[in-house]
Amino acid sequence: MVENCIFCRIVNHEIPAKIIYEDDQVVAFHDISPKAPVHVLIIPKKHIPTLAHVQEEDLPLIAHIHKVVLQLQQELGLQNGFRLIANCDKGGGQEVFHLHYHMLGGGKIEAFPE
Ligand code: AMP
Ligand code: ZN
Repeated sequence: MVENCIFCRIVNHEIPAKIIYEDDQVVAFHDISPKAPVHVLIIPKKHIPTLAHVQEEDLPLIAHIHKVVLQLQQELGLQNGFRLIANCDKGGGQEVFHLHYHMLGGGKIEAFPE
């Protein structure tokens, strides 16, 4: 838990989010400003600031996130496919510095990042 991290606060249920999946390692919830008919964020409960901060010991967690993505593909009706994006650091357009994957699909995907 990192103070003032909005996604840590969602993990801790301190602020509301439309959570669609949760287990001991991961939370997934709808993006507050969707760029596609389906736009969810998949985040580790562990506070990892960016993709570049992923350590060797985190790789099982990253693999688990990918498994969750494939489960959500079925549950969200994205059998036709989807886009998975991880913006890394300021140069990649990252605004929230808690690792997250955007999962987008279900129709037109807006230009992203803007
Ligand atoms: P990024 O630019 O990759 O850091 O994306 C951050 C994403 O988090 C944006 O798509 C925001 O719309 C989304 N976001 C920010 N605050 C919240 C929140 N409280 N609940 C859900 N999504 C959020
Ligand atoms: Zn955090």
